[in-house]
Amino acid sequence: MVNRNQIAIQKIADDEVKSAIFSALEMINAKELMVKEGMTVLLKPNLLSAKKPEQAATTHPKVVQAVIQWVKQFNPAKIYVCDSSGGGFKPKTTENAIKVSGLLAVCDEEGEDVICVPFEATEREIYKVDNPLELDEFPSSRLLKEADLIINLPKIKTHGQCTLTCCIKNMFGTILRTNKAKAHAQFPTIDRFTSALTDIYSVSNPQLTVIDGYLGMEGNGPGSGDPVKLDLILAGYDGIALDTTVCKIIEIPVDDVKYLAFGEKKGLGTTDLSKIEFLGEKIENVKRKFKLPSGRQAISARMPKKIADYISNTVFKADIGFNAEKCILCGTCWENCPVNAIDPPGVRKKGNTPVWDKKKCITCFCCHELCPENAVTLKIPVARNAIFSWFGVVVIGFLAVLGTTIGLLVKFL
Ligand code: SF4
Ligand code: SF4
Repeated sequence: MVNRNQIAIQKIADDEVKSAIFSALEMINAKELMVKEGMTVLLKPNLLSAKKPEQAATTHPKVVQAVIQWVKQFNPAKIYVCDSSGGGFKPKTTENAIKVSGLLAVCDEEGEDVICVPFEATEREIYKVDNPLELDEFPSSRLLKEADLIINLPKIKTHGQCTLTCCIKNMFGTILRTNKAKAHAQFPTIDRFTSALTDIYSVSNPQLTVIDGYLGMEGNGPGSGDPVKLDLILAGYDGIALDTTVCKIIEIPVDDVKYLAFGEKKGLGTTDLSKIEFLGEKIENVKRKFKLPSGRQAISARMPKKIADYISNTVFKADIGFNAEKCILCGTCWENCPVNAIDPPGVRKKGNTPVWDKKKCITCFCCHELCPENAVTLKIPVARNAIFSWFGVVVIGFLAVLGTTIGLLVKFL
C-alpha cells in the first residue's frame, strides 16, 4: 500500500534526471503500484505544442524516458505515452508536438512496447463525471479506462489564465484537441473553467505523479515564457497537494490557483501541507520565485451559466461536412460517432458522402480526427449560428427597438 500523504522532493545533480527520478520514486515506495507483470501503463506528459525541449513548454524527454525505464523494471505489457496538444483544427498538431518535443525519439529508443500516440488517434469513450462541479461528461480516449495505471507527468509552468499549470491542469490534455476551444467557450469565467478542470482531472485521477521541475517556465507561460533550470523532481500521489507544494516552491499564492480549492472541495486531495509527509529536500531549501505572466488573460465577460451554455452550444457549434472527392466511404466516421450522428449514404458509390445529423451531434470531432482520408470538414459559422439562434433574435430585437427609439427621439426632440 502506498501512503498518499507522502511527497518526495529530489534535487537533480549534474543533469542526472534518471537517478533523481528513481530516487524520488524509491522514497515514496511507488513500486507498490506495480502490482503484477503485464500491466498497461499510460504516461500523460504535457505536450502543449511543437516546441523543442530547451523551450520548456513540454515535459522534458529525459523525464519521460526515465519514467519509462522505471516502469519497464516491472515487465509491463505496454506503455502508452499520450497527450492531445492545443491547436484547434490544424491537422497533425499533436503528431508534430510528439516529434519536435523529442518524445517520439525516446519512446522509439525504449522499444516497440512503448507507444507514443496522440489521444486523438485512440479509440473513444464517453466519461461521466461523478458529482460534477461543471462538466457532466466528455469524450476522451478509451485508454483512460483500460490502463491499469496512469502516471501524470506534468511540468512546472506559469499560466496566463490559471496562474499555474502542473498536475491538475495537465489532465486538460485528456480533452481532445478540437474540443478544447469549445470547453473554453462553454466555461467562460475563471471559476467555471477551473471547476471544469477539476472535473476533468477527477475522471482519470492519476495514481502516481512525477513532476518535471528539471526545466520549468516562468513569465508568459504556458507556451511563451522563459525557461528556468530548477533542477527538481517531485513525486507523489495527491495532485492537489503536489500543486500546492509547487506554489510554495515557486512562491505564487495558492489562492490564485483556483482549481486547488475546487479540487479539495471535490475530495481529490488536500491543500493543507501539514498533513503531508515530505521526503528528501525541504521546500525552504529549493524555493525559487517565478515571474508571473505579464497580463492575465481575461477569459471573457462574466455571464450566467445558462446563457454561457446556450451560447457555446449554439453560436459556437461546428458544422460537419464531407469532401466528396476525398471520401472513400470507409465507414470510420459513422462507426466511431459516439452518438450515431452520422449515417452512411443511401447508395454507397463514389461521389456520395455520409449524412450528418446536426441535432444529434455533440461536436466531439472524433469523425474529423479519425477519418483516414482527411475528408471530414469542420466550420464554425458563428455569424449564421448567432443570427438563427434565440441569442441572435434577442440581439436583433434589441437593436431594432434601440434604432426605433433613437429615430423617434431624433424626430420629436
Ligand atoms: S471516415 Fe472519412 S473516408 Fe471514411 S466514410 Fe467517413 S468521411 Fe468518408
Ligand atoms: S458527427 Fe458529431 S458527434 Fe459524431 S463523431 Fe462527428 S463530431 Fe462527434
